[in-house]
Amino acid sequence: MKKHNFSAGPAVLPQEAIENGAKAVLDFDGTGLSILTVSHRSKEFEAVMDETEALFRELLNIPEGYHVLFLGGGASTQFYMVPFNLLETKAGYVNTGVWSKKAIKEAKAFGGVEVLASSDDKNFSYIPKGFAIPSDLDYLHITTNNTIFGTEYKVDLDSPVPLVADMSSDILSRPVDVSKYSLIYGGAQKNLAPAGVTFVIVKDSILGKVTRHLPTMIDYRTHIENGSMFNTPPVFPIFVMRETLRWLKGLGGVEKMYEINKKKAQLLYDEIDRNKVFKGTAAVEDRSLMNICFVPADGYENLYDEFMDFAKKRGMVGIKGHRLVGGFRASTYNALPIESVQALVDCMQEFEKLHA
Ligand SMILES: *Cc1c(COP(=O)(O)O)cnc(C)c1O
Repeated sequence: MKKHNFSAGPAVLPQEAIENGAKAVLDFDGTGLSILTVSHRSKEFEAVMDETEALFRELLNIPEGYHVLFLGGGASTQFYMVPFNLLETKAGYVNTGVWSKKAIKEAKAFGGVEVLASSDDKNFSYIPKGFAIPSDLDYLHITTNNTIFGTEYKVDLDSPVPLVADMSSDILSRPVDVSKYSLIYGGAQKNLAPAGVTFVIVKDSILGKVTRHLPTMIDYRTHIENGSMFNTPPVFPIFVMRETLRWLKGLGGVEKMYEINKKKAQLLYDEIDRNKVFKGTAAVEDRSLMNICFVPADGYENLYDEFMDFAKKRGMVGIKGHRLVGGFRASTYNALPIESVQALVDCMQEFEKLHA
């Protein structure tokens, strides 16, 4: 049976990226060696690294004055690496869910943290808007897409202080004006690569301002000076990321991807809104294009297990919602084909016929 992979992360990847990854495990670019066994300093891998960075820059339209890094440690390491490098006196954070909270917790160890806005009052079902941003902050941190609660910022914030964003789950899914951000980071396992590589886009001019001692591996400048090769980078995940970026470019780039993502999300949200058995959980204007959360509608709560089973039998994988939201979550990342969304919609319609 064909599987439809709605996993929140690690997640679906383009089929050709997986196939080219599999080929490179056996013979990497005609070297006669597996990608799993080559030196990260070989000229063949250096070419992969260079192309990956060039594609990242091109697809996101990253201006001069920024570096792109590929590191280990996941987005969770960035939760403390960001304040380590940037927080001297006080930073602002917006609390839009689990990942924001984790970032806030880490930052508190390094200085003052002001939570400027929070959607905690409604179980993180919306994105706070119109909050004031004090001009004396070292930076403002946001989470652009809330993977667990299914909410997403639809505009790039205007911030009078350096803007830092966790874009783990919506990087390259829609156009972003990188010049409005001073630092963007994320784990690549949601939209770009297998687990193991973390991307960081950092504006050079924000670094070197804190007075604390920075351990070598924590200092972004170490990785900038060494082209992400100060220590051994995650070689295989970077290889697959290059393949994903080539696929994205071939498809027409981020603008085109955004059109496709909007279509996919619309298809599923329309069904959630129409279907009597289900209802959405996120505020309509803040609904994520990447993580679509829904629950059984009022009166149909007892059908939860039955739908999970029903969907599983039809090839749906990874639609169990996070325990903090309950219900269902369909992650519709870049590489998820629209056919998979259609299959889920068909499944929901079939299920409704049985019960409503
Ligand atoms: C998954 C996720 C993280 C955690 O990423 P790791 O790479 O596992 O540390 C952080 N932020 C967001 C928004 C995420 O979706």
